[in-house]
Parts: sequence; structure tokens; C-alpha cells
Amino acid sequence: AEEREELTWELFGSASRELAQAIADDGFEPDLVLSIARGGLFVAGALGYALDVKNLHVMNVEFYTGVDERLDLPVMLPPVPNAVDLTGATVLVADDVADTGATLKLVRDFCADHVAEVRCAVVYEKPRSEVKCEYVWRHTDRWINFPWSVRAPVVRRAGQVLDA
Ligand code: 5GP
Repeated sequence: AEEREELTWELFGSASRELAQAIADDGFEPDLVLSIARGGLFVAGALGYALDVKNLHVMNVEFYTGVDERLDLPVMLPPVPNAVDLTGATVLVADDVADTGATLKLVRDFCADHVAEVRCAVVYEKPRSEVKCEYVWRHTDRWINFPWSVRAPVVRRAGQVLDA
């Protein structure tokens, strides 16, 4: 079986810190961090603290439509960030991984229409990504297990019945 890349919670702590350090060392000072939900929320939160940026925004991007069909391209789901919030800003886009890069390309192109400058930070970037991120913690061509999605969602246990 092909080996997987395993990001633990522990490793994520140092990865996000190292990513932030690279951004700071580069002299990049974003006005806001734009996370791509859901995986990017963890990265954006960690970078927000490490870079002392409190202005965090979320963009929802999915590969699936409401009718449970996979699309050729990712789509933006509402609510789409208010262009007023982004106009003229220096933006750091944060996500967990750039795989094909299609998701980041969508977000970066959306930003390019409004913002002063946009750069991307990811924990992992794969070689085939059509977007080359400015800040990458690790390069890999393997499938990655992230600590936030490696386990199945919890299911309700017996005996946890709420009052009627
Ligand atoms: P894209 O192909 O657009 O760059 O990747 C979009 C999304 O697919 C990522 O944000 C992530 O949620 C998911 N994805 C892509 N590659 C991997 C991977 O190796 N592991 C996991 N867990 N998710 C991935």
C-alpha cells in the first residue's frame, strides 16, 4: 500500500508556527487572513495568532453541488466574502493543502479582482498544483491524513437522549 503523509495535532502545532515564521521573515504583513473552509480554518486560526492578525475571513469552497454530484471545478458557496471587506487589503489565503490547486486558484482569482495583494500559505503542496503557493511547510505527492478529518464524525451514543 502507498504510504500516507500523517499530520498529527502535535506536528500541526509546529508546522503552523514554522509557516508563520517564514511569512514574518519574508516581511509579509497581511491585513487579513482568508481561510478556505473547512481545512483552512485550522491553519488560518493558528496563523492569525502567530502573526497577530485578528481579522479572519472564511470562504466556503466545495467540489460538490447540492445534488451530490462531483464537479469538474470547485465552486464557491455562500456566503461569499464581502468585496468591501477585501478591497485594497493585503490578504493571506490559508488552506490545508494545494493538491490540484483548483481550489486555491478559484480563491486567488476572486481576490485578485478586489485586493491590493494576495499570497497563499498551505501546510502541504503537491507537485501537480496549478497554484504555486508563496508559503509551503512541506511538499509531498502522497495522500495526507489531517488530524481534523482522519476520524469519522462522531455518532450519537445510546443513553444520551435529550429531554422531550
Ligand atoms: P485542490 O485539489 O483543489 O488543491 O484540493 C482541494 C481540497 O481537497 C483540499 O483543500 C482538501 O480538503 C482536499 N484534499 C486534497 N488533497 C488531499 C489530501 O492529500 N488529503 C486530504 N485529507 N484532503 C485532501
